[in-house]
Amino acid sequence: MDLVDPFGRTIRDLRISVTDRCNFRCTYCMPQEGMKWLPRSEVLSFEEIERLSRIFVERFEVDGLRLTGGEPTVRSHLPVLVHKLSGLRVPVSSRSPMAGKAPDLSVTTNGATFRLVAEELRINGLQRVNISLDTLKRDRFLQMTRRDELFRVLDGIEAAKEAGFSPVKINAVIERGVNDDEILDLACFGRDRGVEVRFIEFMPLDASGEWGRHKVVPQDEIVANIAAVFPLELVPARGAAPADRWRYVDGAGIIGVIPTVSHPFCGDCDRVRITADGQFRTCLFATTEFDLRALLRDGSDDDVIAAEIQRAVGLKWAGHQINQVNFIRPARSMSQIGG
Ligand code: SAM
Ligand code: SF4
Repeated sequence: MDLVDPFGRTIRDLRISVTDRCNFRCTYCMPQEGMKWLPRSEVLSFEEIERLSRIFVERFEVDGLRLTGGEPTVRSHLPVLVHKLSGLRVPVSSRSPMAGKAPDLSVTTNGATFRLVAEELRINGLQRVNISLDTLKRDRFLQMTRRDELFRVLDGIEAAKEAGFSPVKINAVIERGVNDDEILDLACFGRDRGVEVRFIEFMPLDASGEWGRHKVVPQDEIVANIAAVFPLELVPARGAAPADRWRYVDGAGIIGVIPTVSHPFCGDCDRVRITADGQFRTCLFATTEFDLRALLRDGSDDDVIAAEIQRAVGLKWAGHQINQVNFIRPARSMSQIGG
């Protein structure tokens, strides 16, 4: 049965945060110190994540699962979870291209320790990986992530390729006055390494609340910057994917831009999220959460949980209000929600 919201959007993509913890402290996401971590008992177990995922995939025909965080690789035994999730099957009767198969299983990681788990994740059924990389300069990397680990992330990207993940995508958050002078260098990095770089507009989800419109580098500027040197053509039909994509006319690959602020794509949104503590969110910017963990732990059966999921999706709003005066920032920041 499809999970359809009041605006006719069918939910196909579930983002699952497996931890709120992280080994980095990116300035646009977390404060240097003072994050309050969830107590372990409040974080969903692998069995609980599997049970919820089964409802989404096998009952509601969700065909994409993305593991995120916090930093998903700091959760012990991540490959065990991947193994469990790769055993799920999208119903044969589904209209999804994944019908009868495992859902598309992916992870978003900062890459710093990815080499340690790449092979094991691949063997256990992980299909795709996005690695975050905002700068190619060591000192700036230290400034942006508060960790001197650029070399480890670059190695993580190589490890992902060696393990056979394809495509490997790079997520780069661009912030005005911080790394906007590196748009072209990051694009060249993608061309040279055969990876798809996806530029992300800075969103008002930083823990320190320092986001401002003047810090957002809009999609049009990012694309113009690259196209001035390497001509680009738009790849048609974005569909529900968050990124608009362009291909290099010379055939050297593809770039993407996630234009959350300058060109909101809410009309095509097919995503929902579960936080590490089992709260269900129907939008990254939602101010309401639905407590699935309580139902998992009070003995509720799958029908009750499914009904709560349907109720929540029935309340999914048309779109975020970042560009309106009445925009309210969610109480939790990006690492606590699961980006
Ligand atoms: N730790 C992993 C990582 O960094 O890839 C996964 C979680 S992180 C919250 C997911 C993505 O959100 C990353 O690509 C990160 O760069 C992005 N992100 C974090 N804070 C953001 C913000 N305020 N605006 C835009 N993107 C942000
Ligand atoms: Fe950690 Fe990812 Fe947030 Fe950076 S963006 S602090 S790596 S969760």
